[in-house]
Amino acid sequence: MVNFIRFLCVALCLCASGDVFGKKVSGRLGKELEKELKGRNLILRGSIHQNPMTYYEHGGNVYYYQHSRKHPVLFRIERDEPVLVRAVKVRDDELRIEFRSARLGNGLVTFSAPLHSPPLNRAAFDAGFALCFSTGEESEVLPDLVGNTSSSVYHVASSNHLPDADKRQAFRTHAEAEGAGMRACKLCFLRMPLVSDYATERTLALYASQQIQSMGQLATDDAVQSRAREIGQRVLDNWPVPLQGYKYRFSVMEDDEVNAYALPTGFVFVNRGLLEAAESDLEIEGVIAHEIAHVERRHSYRIYRNEKKKQMISAAAGVLVGVLTGKKSKEDKVEKAVIFGGLAYNLVKAATDVFYEGYPRSMEEEADAMAALYLERQYGGDGLAEMTRVLKKLRYYTDYVGVDEKNMRAFRSHPLLDDRIAAFTGSRVEVFDKPVRVVGRNNRGDEVVTLEMSCQRWTTSAVASRYSLDPTQILGKAYATADIGKPRKFKDVVFTTLAGRKIKLDNKEDSLIGPYEDQGFLLRGNLPVKLDELKAKGVKVNLDGAKLKWHLETE
Ligand SMILES: [Zn+2]
Ligand SMILES: [Zn+2]
Repeated sequence: MVNFIRFLCVALCLCASGDVFGKKVSGRLGKELEKELKGRNLILRGSIHQNPMTYYEHGGNVYYYQHSRKHPVLFRIERDEPVLVRAVKVRDDELRIEFRSARLGNGLVTFSAPLHSPPLNRAAFDAGFALCFSTGEESEVLPDLVGNTSSSVYHVASSNHLPDADKRQAFRTHAEAEGAGMRACKLCFLRMPLVSDYATERTLALYASQQIQSMGQLATDDAVQSRAREIGQRVLDNWPVPLQGYKYRFSVMEDDEVNAYALPTGFVFVNRGLLEAAESDLEIEGVIAHEIAHVERRHSYRIYRNEKKKQMISAAAGVLVGVLTGKKSKEDKVEKAVIFGGLAYNLVKAATDVFYEGYPRSMEEEADAMAALYLERQYGGDGLAEMTRVLKKLRYYTDYVGVDEKNMRAFRSHPLLDDRIAAFTGSRVEVFDKPVRVVGRNNRGDEVVTLEMSCQRWTTSAVASRYSLDPTQILGKAYATADIGKPRKFKDVVFTTLAGRKIKLDNKEDSLIGPYEDQGFLLRGNLPVKLDELKAKGVKVNLDGAKLKWHLETE
């Protein structure tokens, strides 16, 4: 098991508006089920199709259920999950089974009947319940795929747009369906990245793309565009760690500035100035690898989340005054005043100003570490040499045209560029065969926080001391369940070696880890060995008062 929590936030607005045909769920059914189910241990089935909404048919009518952790955020469950039923409630036209899961915290499954179907009766509920939960070992699964014989498109069987019964053909696998001359439904197999809160990241990208459009235009030369696309695709095809699943678009901007930048969710822009200054595709490849790393590591989103959490914390402490308008929740207090796509404007701006002002140093280092990893794996020392050369060109360009540091977007000028050049010439990056995991458990033994570390960058001591770089950097991702309670500041990790020595790795970004979120991080310090070979007696994570028992898994 690699990632213990993977979920997808979907802004699904269920228009379960007032029912004109009578109540969809009777209170009596709710009471009956409460008696039967409360306190029972059940297995919540992993949703094989990964859709948060599962439609099913019963007696010629369509009903549905959805997994929901906390309204209105939905997530997908990818494996069977033991749960304890806490309550069964009828609220409006829904029947809710509320449960607790060690891994997912509190959750609920909602059963409902669409507007034009008869109310959810006992038999219709039972049919859906059997698909959603299992009480023991028997394993009943949904038929996987349903083809429409008239359109030759196949769908997931739990979708809401299946063809009429006489036009259906069942398949078990994609290959089987495709072998029968069918093509996959674009909607059923919508490719979404496996990241938390993707909807917010999309909004950031939308805002940033408006900024970009006002800044310049795309090059109209097809050959130039396809060159950028080819190089970009080459980098993606050979990316050294699993990709998050963003859909990338590579474009060339008609701009002489020697520069490149990336927007959240996968929009990468290369200026014509950079293309023309490059002597080889490899130079551009290095720059694009750096930009892809900003996307994959979700840098804009991280800035947004960290800003937001800081504001929420200060709002909760009563520090944030002035703009508060007396709304209900803390969340509301932060997100008032100016709103962009449902998000607070000041936070969106903080997360997208980086296109003008550059990312914080730690994020540039992360992006460089990923680019170095990619280049070294693909081309050995030659790759790193080309990247060094392109950084020197950026340095030269900023000096030559006298660009104001503040106006130099993603690639900021010295001293950062000098440090980065030095790091490229005096460092190597290694990816661990298997990620190293530091796990924090609560007193029930449940995994609450997992820090998963995937690679390590070493800088030679001469270069490290000359440019005050840290001798080692560790790249990782954190996941937390609801049991973490609130967003907490993640400061450092301290290992105790067998000899009793303490090795501290700092998180200088000072990021926060919150419930149900994945968060990238970069730890820095002086770790004399490769982390996956470290023999440690113990490990502790400084996570703002979180009372957890930590241990290190190196296998
Ligand atoms: Zn479909
Ligand atoms: Zn950068």
